[in-house]
Amino acid sequence: MHRKRLSSRLDHIQGSGVRRMFDLIRTMKDPINLSIGQAHYEAPAEAIEAATAAMRHGENRYTTTQGIPELIQRVSDRLEGRYGFRPPSVFMTSGVSGGLLLAHLSLFDSGDEILLPDPYFVMYTNMLELVGAKAAFYETYPSDDPKDGRPAWHPDLAEIEARITNKTRAILINSPSNPTGGMLDRNELQGLAALARKHDLWILSDEIYSHFHYGRSFESMITRMPDHEKTIVFGGFSKTYGMPGWRLGFVAGPEDALEAMKTVQQYTFVCAPAPLQYGALAAMSVDVSRYRDEYEQKRDLVYEQLHDLYPMVPSEGSFYAFPAYPDGVSEEVFLERCLERRLLIVPGSAFSRRATHFRLSFAASDAMLREGLRVLREIATE
Ligand code: PMP
Repeated sequence: MHRKRLSSRLDHIQGSGVRRMFDLIRTMKDPINLSIGQAHYEAPAEAIEAATAAMRHGENRYTTTQGIPELIQRVSDRLEGRYGFRPPSVFMTSGVSGGLLLAHLSLFDSGDEILLPDPYFVMYTNMLELVGAKAAFYETYPSDDPKDGRPAWHPDLAEIEARITNKTRAILINSPSNPTGGMLDRNELQGLAALARKHDLWILSDEIYSHFHYGRSFESMITRMPDHEKTIVFGGFSKTYGMPGWRLGFVAGPEDALEAMKTVQQYTFVCAPAPLQYGALAAMSVDVSRYRDEYEQKRDLVYEQLHDLYPMVPSEGSFYAFPAYPDGVSEEVFLERCLERRLLIVPGSAFSRRATHFRLSFAASDAMLREGLRVLREIATE
């Protein structure tokens, strides 16, 4: 039999390790699931009501490419209120994923190099592969050198600069980070913007976890747009409002690049889901700050329960922790021990060139999280 010929674009694409976990979960009875990348709470009732009302009232057609004006206005106002700068252009996308794809298709050519953090969100490397561009990495793992003051899950700007070549087109940042829980501070954003300006690079800033910050407030790359125009910020509704299946996000950035991205949207997604944009508008009036507070308690619990057995730092944002495997335990053995106990986490090698850490999601009920932490303590002391 002849194998069907597929595009060579897929030659180096593998199914996501996170998806494989999802498949495994389906076969497992009562898993302790700390592998999930979405909030454990439901979308606000007001948002569901507004979306269904919109459907009933005939909002079932395409919207304009950029989305409904009320929502764009609302998002722009919110960004300006929160960060003190109104992005020159904003439009609605099919999730942050959709926005990222539009940016990749609009900005990058084959052979271009894009600097990504290691560890990174799995979509980044595969999306670059799909457009024929190349991932180059900057380090954020804890430094082995105690004299090096760089905190775990933060970049070293000098190292990033050393990795810039004449093919480099962009620096991608993801703060708060999936999978590490690291969150960049104002100085780091300032330094990154200065570096990007000096080398004429794009900054792509994935801020989907901006709602989930602990101990200090979140800093957006939007604050740096006045001094570095080539900045595109990606924001979402999936995580903040517990609606990942709605496929809604937005991009903010300079007019010319966003116009190009809108043109690509015309020929791909067409628009973000119409009735759900009305739902998202309603969601923006709901106070979801209590979830952030709850997640802060969960992240404290994770650190309290694990740090004596697993090398780690407290998460600064997102809803993930990224502890190291106990000394001498390989990823394979560790995963086996987890699966024997029905515990699901995501192995770090799904997000990295290394296989030394794992991603634990604390977007879970307290009962499930406590049970998972108990099992992790058991595994480390086995
Ligand atoms: N960026 C990061 C860092 C993510 O973790 C995710 C979802 N797991 C996305 C983007 C995609 O989000 P969306 O649902 O908005 O497409």
